Amino acid sequence: MRIHHLNCGSFCPHGRRLVNGEGGLLERGSVVCHCLAIETGDGLVLVDTGFGMEDARNPRQLGAAFRLLMEPRPEIGTTALRQIEALGFEAGDVKHIVLSHLDLDHAGGLPDFPEAEVHVFAPELAEALHPSLRERTRYIGGAHWKHKPRWVEHGAGGDDWFGFSSVRILPGLDTEVLLVPLVGHSRGHTGIAVNSDEGWLLHCGDAYFNHGEVATPPSCPPILRLFQALMANDGAARRSNQERLRELARNHGDEVTTFCAHDPRELELAQAKSADAAAA
Ligand SMILES: [Zn+2]
Repeated sequence: MRIHHLNCGSFCPHGRRLVNGEGGLLERGSVVCHCLAIETGDGLVLVDTGFGMEDARNPRQLGAAFRLLMEPRPEIGTTALRQIEALGFEAGDVKHIVLSHLDLDHAGGLPDFPEAEVHVFAPELAEALHPSLRERTRYIGGAHWKHKPRWVEHGAGGDDWFGFSSVRILPGLDTEVLLVPLVGHSRGHTGIAVNSDEGWLLHCGDAYFNHGEVATPPSCPPILRLFQALMANDGAARRSNQERLRELARNHGDEVTTFCAHDPRELELAQAKSADAAAA
């Protein structure tokens, strides 16, 4: 099984030191969209999509507030579609897309894979399709869902996975893929665990934003801390899930590699590790 770690979109907000915890105040920060493309016996599985082709052609559809705050840089060359094509695949090879949540920087690529089944945690889809007043400005995904995605909702499950509840999805595949609900950032936010040749990977989506947050003691650059607090659907649940992820990293760091969607350092480490594995 091969797993590709892709960056499917970037943000370049001001104040690198306040965003990345290093570098100058006047430099631009670096925020990535860490996605996975998993080669299985039954085609490709994508974990999150990042921005899509139409976001790159027409960035205005991302909304003025989001663009002003986060300075997204959607580009055609970094879409999941162009990157899987560079690996020798085509859109139709993507049979399944598993989403951590439905924010536009995680699900913007859905229209590029209209035939794929789109797996989401049920409370997330419910909130996105019928948002509360508070979340109405969050799910502006109309353009991303015009093609009527083939949603597959998954309810909460009871199987224990390192002390977290988990739902096994895609049971027909040769690769184990689990939803590991980590709510708080959004109402139905979930992590995605993949049983790889090198042990478990846990894509934590936006459950945290910087590697320092799952270290003990935790740390986080101030702009990211502020942004997470502002965006949280349930702040207490978000903080409690971060605590559980720290515990996981402390107690099972040799069995589970965790990474979030937006940390460039975690992406680099994962890419280097998978390049080493491919060369071995
Ligand atoms: Zn995000």
